[in-house]
Amino acid sequence: MIGPLVHAVNVTKSFHHNQVLKGIDLDVDEGRVVCLLGPSGSGKTTFLRCINQLETIDGGRIWVDGDLMGYADRDGKLYRLPDKQIAAQRREIGMVFQRFNLFPHMTAIENVAEAPVQVKGESKKAARQRALELLERVGLADRCAAYPAQLSGGQQQRVAIARALAMQPKLMLFDEPTSALDPELVGEVLSVMRELASEGMTMIVVTHEMSFAREVADTVVFMDGGVVVEAGAPADVIGNPQHQRTKTFLSRLR
Ligand code: ADP
Repeated sequence: MIGPLVHAVNVTKSFHHNQVLKGIDLDVDEGRVVCLLGPSGSGKTTFLRCINQLETIDGGRIWVDGDLMGYADRDGKLYRLPDKQIAAQRREIGMVFQRFNLFPHMTAIENVAEAPVQVKGESKKAARQRALELLERVGLADRCAAYPAQLSGGQQQRVAIARALAMQPKLMLFDEPTSALDPELVGEVLSVMRELASEGMTMIVVTHEMSFAREVADTVVFMDGGVVVEAGAPADVIGNPQHQRTKTFLSRLR
């Protein structure tokens, strides 16, 4: 495609009188990894949710792979798309949450195979075969028959990643995927994400894991108070921040 896979322009979003996003611009080229950093409450999660239309934006525009998300643009005016079309757009985007949100009554393989069968109408056999391959990719082929409660948090999150990948998304959004995990389980999830990045998946990752951002991100975006304060290569934004707010944030993490 021509142009970035994700193109967000002047995105605004309020909850009641609280303006949470105050004009966010972001471009993400295909195959690139962007890490969103910033203090709690700066709007990172809300922005991710706007990209895949879990939230409706108040202003601005977001394109994913050339598709204007949530709207049709007719003569410069925006018209909200019907829910069915929004659902179809959302299907192209995988999302991994802080809490794994697996279906508790289904095994790992059933969790991964569910959406391709239910939403895409794939045959059960084909979906299970691919689910097994995906579980293998996240290092869990031997746990495919386990229920979520029988898995560690890190394993559950890896199943959640496999489940998102099963829909063959163009883009993966990660919302603090390791922040609910015990420290010893963080590494296994980050290493799956690292591998995904090296295979060329386009990813936007909200994280506080600075070493991951340094190593894996092509671009780091520091948000505070609903604006992008600075963005650039990790060596610049993390290694040599220009703005006081970035410096303060980073110094608190160390
Ligand atoms: P971050 O991910 O950077 O911690 P969030 O996007 O979660 O920030 O939150 C930004 C602000 O938006 C916070 O003040 C939060 O309370 C508010 N907020 C988020 N979601 C909602 C909601 N559904 N209703 C009202 N306020 C919300």
